[in-house]
Amino acid sequence: MNDSPMIIAIDGPAGSGKSTVARAVSERVGIPYLDTGAMYRSVAFAALRAGVDPEDAEQVSNLARELVLVMRPDGTVLVDGADATIEIRGPEVTRAVSIVAANPTVRSEMRSRQRQWAREQGGGVMEGRDIGTVVFPDARLKVYLDASPEIRAARRSKEVADLSYESVASDLARRDALDQNRAHDPLTVSEDACVIDTSHLSVEEIVDSILELLE
Ligand code: C5P
Repeated sequence: MNDSPMIIAIDGPAGSGKSTVARAVSERVGIPYLDTGAMYRSVAFAALRAGVDPEDAEQVSNLARELVLVMRPDGTVLVDGADATIEIRGPEVTRAVSIVAANPTVRSEMRSRQRQWAREQGGGVMEGRDIGTVVFPDARLKVYLDASPEIRAARRSKEVADLSYESVASDLARRDALDQNRAHDPLTVSEDACVIDTSHLSVEEIVDSILELLE
């Protein structure tokens, strides 16, 4: 019998289906959900809003430490008291986020906030890039979702109506490269993660396989 809080770690690249799947798993299992990508996006958003260059490691680090970040259960995100739910998904933040997320101070600050969130909630479904490898290496279940770059770009370009498929695909490739090759906590598959290729699966099928793995 394992008494530690139940963490389900769902990692993978952009467009692999993480958010939709993680939300559905959280509903089916009845435990809360945390989108850790939204936390890194919030730091990038705060830097842009303050006129801080995302490459300026020192200023971005200070800003991350002082950021008042509230991740509400309904998915709304408050950055220093203001609702930034929509803005953190915008193209400017998407362009800057992987640079900010490569900053080791930002990562350690977000990691401790993610662990604190899990302690307070008593566990949860946590979605990101390094949950199973770094944030919760002892997670009850680790899932790595993947899909072909073409399918991931097609999914993302359906979500952002005002950007062409080509620009979404090139942004994804650039972000994949930055996330996989950074020096600190790069996106990799944990040795003990169950890899699911979501390219040709429905959300329902993916969620069912995760629940089976959990049992
Ligand atoms: O999941 P999403 O695409 O919103 O994540 C935005 C960015 O945040 C990623 O491209 C990555 O640079 C960063 N990220 C991270 N570690 C996490 C979650 C997200 O570095 N656990």
